[in-house]
Amino acid sequence: MAHINPMSEPGSTPSARRGSGEIPAEPDARHLIEQLPAIVYVADVGVDGNWRYVSPGVRALLGYSPEDWLADPDLWARQVHPDDRARVFAREDDLVEPTVPEEYRMRHRDGRTVWVRDEAALVTDAEGNAQWHGVISDVSDRKRAEAELERRAQQQAAVARLGKHALEGANVSDLMHDALDEATRILGVESGAVLEQASDEEVAIVRARLGPARQGLGAGASGQVDNGLRRDDESLRDSSFLHNSNFPRNSNSPRDSSSPHPAGRLSRRVQDAPSDGERTPRANTGGDSVTCQIEGRDGRWGTLWLASASRPRFEPSDVDFVQALANILADALQQRATEDDIRYQALHDPLTSLPNRVLFLDRLGHALSRPSAKVAVVLLDIDNFKLVNDSLGHSAGDELLMEIAPRLKTALRPEDTIARLGGDEFVVLLEHIEDERAAARVAKRIVAAFETPFRLSVGEYFTKVSLGIALAGAQNSHPAELISDADAAMYQAKEHGRARYEIFDGAMRARVVERLSVENDLRRALERDELQLIYQPIVSLRTKALASVEALARWRHPTRGLVGPSEFIPIAEESGLIEPIGRWVLDSACAQAAHWHAQHRDRPPLGISVNLSIQQFRQRDLEATVAAALARTGIEPSSLCLEITESVLLQEADAVRDTMTRLAQLGVRFVLDDFGTGYSSLAYLTQLPIDGLKIDRSFVEELGSSRRSTAITTAIVRMAQALSVEVIAEGVESQLQIDALRALDCELGQGFHFHRPLSAAGVSKLLDAEPS
Ligand code: C2E
Ligand code: CA
Ligand code: CA
Repeated sequence: MAHINPMSEPGSTPSARRGSGEIPAEPDARHLIEQLPAIVYVADVGVDGNWRYVSPGVRALLGYSPEDWLADPDLWARQVHPDDRARVFAREDDLVEPTVPEEYRMRHRDGRTVWVRDEAALVTDAEGNAQWHGVISDVSDRKRAEAELERRAQQQAAVARLGKHALEGANVSDLMHDALDEATRILGVESGAVLEQASDEEVAIVRARLGPARQGLGAGASGQVDNGLRRDDESLRDSSFLHNSNFPRNSNSPRDSSSPHPAGRLSRRVQDAPSDGERTPRANTGGDSVTCQIEGRDGRWGTLWLASASRPRFEPSDVDFVQALANILADALQQRATEDDIRYQALHDPLTSLPNRVLFLDRLGHALSRPSAKVAVVLLDIDNFKLVNDSLGHSAGDELLMEIAPRLKTALRPEDTIARLGGDEFVVLLEHIEDERAAARVAKRIVAAFETPFRLSVGEYFTKVSLGIALAGAQNSHPAELISDADAAMYQAKEHGRARYEIFDGAMRARVVERLSVENDLRRALERDELQLIYQPIVSLRTKALASVEALARWRHPTRGLVGPSEFIPIAEESGLIEPIGRWVLDSACAQAAHWHAQHRDRPPLGISVNLSIQQFRQRDLEATVAAALARTGIEPSSLCLEITESVLLQEADAVRDTMTRLAQLGVRFVLDDFGTGYSSLAYLTQLPIDGLKIDRSFVEELGSSRRSTAITTAIVRMAQALSVEVIAEGVESQLQIDALRALDCELGQGFHFHRPLSAAGVSKLLDAEPS
């Protein structure tokens, strides 16, 4: 430290004396000291020591004249900030260091706080008195900058902590409380809240809150104080927060250029707030608040609001800090909204927004797990839904599906779960259902609910539903079992003529079990060679001569005896067994035909008809299967006739036409079986390679006795003749029928009147007996 003697006269300082002549005149030391923007002083040691000299800089720094200062020995001590006094005064008592740089706060005469740096050296005078020779300078700017840096570092750390919690998957409610926690600590605010903007602009929902209840939130403050943070969301739904005119909601958007701080909004309650650095809280003189937006996925979600009555003013950097916290909450909220969506989508049907199979099974599982649960499942299928899609278009079909749930709700209790299992299948979970009678009452209400038409954009549409009901019991205590029982009941409802309900019962269970056991046996039937073919002759109605035979399948069951195709073909179709069985039928029939051809080379090869089911027609390799059978047996393709029903034609029309066309190109013939019972239009017949029509047995049966059947038979025969295709009457049992058919010029027939289905040997005998 320079040992300046402020008391010495100008020119008497050693340096001044040196300065005569050659070098530029030295500055006048007193003048220099008086111009310094600092207080240069000489003072006695001790808190109450006299001030010997104080430079005029004291006026700019602390607002006092040197005269004031020197006249009042206690002034310095009084102006030292109370909080710093102990530390600063200690140097007076404890003179360990001969030089002391010290930084502390002093009060300016106008009340401001000034940070000073006091550097002094202990100098002993001639009499041995210790004195301070020192300089006090204003370091407020540096202190402010340091404090600002420190605050920013703390804010960054807080933002990083909150961000880390968010990344670690903390739940959003906890994050909101953490954000308020951090803000209180760093900014020293007393009140804060996370507010969700309800869709109604006037209302906000408090999601998290801290600080004295209602403070800063306007009228009606009761003085009730809520210290600490509340963690219970429910307790935060304080109605006093709602519909509050002072409520800090419509704040500017963060990008609003009219906002003084681009990152948020500062609302200044008190314009003449105490100046910066004021430590002592001045109660109820005002305060400040910050409101920052929290962006949701679809625009603004809400706000993070902080207020302090004691803290006079928030810095722009504080607003940035609050916005950073708000942004983390926004990210977490958006993330959670996305996760919620994914979870929702996994459990709901996108078209109807109803629970899907997964969610339904889960709820059913829960319902069944409750002790003494009385649970029923109602399975619902819209009758002829395919027709709606096919005739009115898929969007009409979708509309209808969306109308189902609201319609069902009118017949159910609010707590009943409705789910869509897929397609046109819906399912309802009924809990607390006493017995079958109660379930039946619900079913009746549902059936009745479908009696009024649906309003679709294409017009009004009537549709009916078939219901299957299953009540949980000892034998179906698992969700999947219950649904499968309801399914079996629904199947029955459909079979018994739609628009009705069936309740799963013991008889139905027996049938289901029976069906399962048939299916099991059928699986082994092929391996065990239990299937066989019999052949029904098709004859000329004029000459009764054998024209061809139709192969009909039989199953020689080890215990059930001879089983007819009506009993096992539907099961084969449902279980997929129709594929190998169909292939076997085709192969065996062709092999048998080849055998007859070989035996009777003298006559034209005997034609063989094979029945194909829809499932077989859906197979992609049908053409290959047929070609292989022909190749293996070597029969003429034209001796093979495939019988299909009209329902095949109602399937995917283009695919069916392609398959038929390719098979026809091989030389195979087609006959439409059970003709007259389906929906075939003439258009089908002209577009497809059809070689013949078989008049359904039901018409032939009533031929001559029913006008309607006679008319239909006549029309079919005339149509076949016009199209130049063969016509075969099936189920001919009487001479009367033969006469009527002959009168119509129908050429072919089959039926018990001519022959019952015969064994292969039986057909061989017929062939032998035929005149060649
Ligand atoms: P379908 O093709 O209409 O076969 C004619 C059915 O009528 C045969 O019954 C036959 O025995 C019976 N029938 C013949 N003449 C008369 C008669 O004068 N009066 C009466 N009341 N019935 C007569 P079946 O053999 O029980 O066959 C029933 C159905 O099973 C067949 O009807 C056919 O759709 C299907 N089917 C038979 N075999 C096969 C096969 O190998 N594969 C496929 N996919 N279906 C087959
Ligand atoms: Ca047939
Ligand atoms: Ca038939």
